[in-house]
Amino acid sequence: MKLKNKVAVVTGAGRGIGKTIALALAKEGAKVVINDVNFELSQMVASEIKKKNREAIALQSDVSNSIEVTNMVDEIIKKFKKIDILVNNAGIMQSISVEKMTEENWDKMMAINLKGVFLCSKAVMKYMKKQKSGKIINISSLAGKSGGIMVGANYSASKAGVIAFTKSLARELAPYKINVNAVAPGTADTDMAKLFSAEQRRKIIDAIPLGRFANPEDIANAVVFLASNRADYITGATLDVNGGLLMD
Ligand code: NAP
Repeated sequence: MKLKNKVAVVTGAGRGIGKTIALALAKEGAKVVINDVNFELSQMVASEIKKKNREAIALQSDVSNSIEVTNMVDEIIKKFKKIDILVNNAGIMQSISVEKMTEENWDKMMAINLKGVFLCSKAVMKYMKKQKSGKIINISSLAGKSGGIMVGANYSASKAGVIAFTKSLARELAPYKINVNAVAPGTADTDMAKLFSAEQRRKIIDAIPLGRFANPEDIANAVVFLASNRADYITGATLDVNGGLLMD
């Protein structure tokens, strides 16, 4: 097991990619904190993990709310005494033109997808700095590199921000042996991707060299690698998991 006795927090882990990441980290031996705004979903994921004789707890908090994030981290420290791995996965997506986009659309996207990454990273890094180790993995998107064709510019901009934030934080935390990396998935088959029409889905698949959407497991595998000591010399990187749709 690559992550035995590590304590990992995964935000937005009640369903989709976050849930799959949480299950994969638990399989590798990590004690996993399942965060989500939807407490019922996170409790279900935590019990699924516990049924497999692994340790997990569910905590409800909105990643865009600094008080809720601080309370969540305080509770994790009270229970586990440390945090080794943070996966900033919680996110929302909107498929909307700039012409129709409201200021509220913009602000909500930035609050969850970008400020949430900042708040959760800031809350855990003081503990990681003290222990002089840690892995922060931010889930960005192919759209954050290519601009995205089916998603709103607010989504693409938030995910580009995640990549830039990852690089800056990687520099800031390198002296403390804390690795900060991003994963940029192409379209993955989750509830989020169900927002695309059948025609949009077909168009995307036709353009992917590997001929299919990502499975959440494809993304979880990349996260497990970046969370492990096999990635100790990787920081500030963005790992593409996009079936070859964008090669740069
Ligand atoms: P999803 O199925 O919509 O799941 C997202 C989870 O995040 C949900 O459980 C949601 O809770 C939770 N969440 C939303 N806002 C939150 C908040 N403020 N605080 C805490 N949790 C919150 O999405 P997904 O497809 O698994 O995507 C996960 C991540 O991968 C996102 O960052 C997304 O941008 C990124 N990504 C996805 C794709 C894709 O094609 N699916 C591609 C590239 C990148 P609710 O259940 O209450 O909504």
